[in-house]
Amino acid sequence: MNRNPILKNGKRSKASGIYKCSRCGNLHALIEGEVASECEICREKGREQHWLVTKRELLIVTRNVRQEVDRRKSRTDRISDTITDFCGNIYFVYVHAVWFTAWLVYNSVVDEPFDPYPFGMLTLVVSLEAIILATFILMSQNRQGEISELRSELDYQTDLKAEKNTAEILALLKKIYQKSREDR
Ligand SMILES: [Zn+2]
Repeated sequence: MNRNPILKNGKRSKASGIYKCSRCGNLHALIEGEVASECEICREKGREQHWLVTKRELLIVTRNVRQEVDRRKSRTDRISDTITDFCGNIYFVYVHAVWFTAWLVYNSVVDEPFDPYPFGMLTLVVSLEAIILATFILMSQNRQGEISELRSELDYQTDLKAEKNTAEILALLKKIYQKSREDR
């Protein structure tokens, strides 16, 4: 079994992904069906090389991070996001202010309160609510971390493509310059 599939120069890539130079480790982004060209670093040094297939997935660099994140969201993620959004809202404070006031006033005024002073049941309910909310907020924060990671991955791949394009433009310019000197 071939554990490390390779891609020879001039051949078309079978799948979109990040390819690594066998000699210098230079990385190269290729989309499916794109013809692999020589590694720029190794070409300058006149070294033979081929490309190694890596496990890195090629994200479409023009894709919006928001859309990509939305695509990967599970139902739990959506629920925790909705809850976290509501917690960060001023209405969350209003709802609790009204709820606590009503509870405390009712249990202080009526003759047979269901939760008399020092309001043990209210304390229990609020503690449980705090635990559950904290969990949802942590889940949301973890996802924020993942979003940042995805954003840097997309930035990295954009850089990789830009670097490749710049190298190609420089090579072309060099050729044009040499041609113009010869023609003079
Ligand atoms: Zn190389």
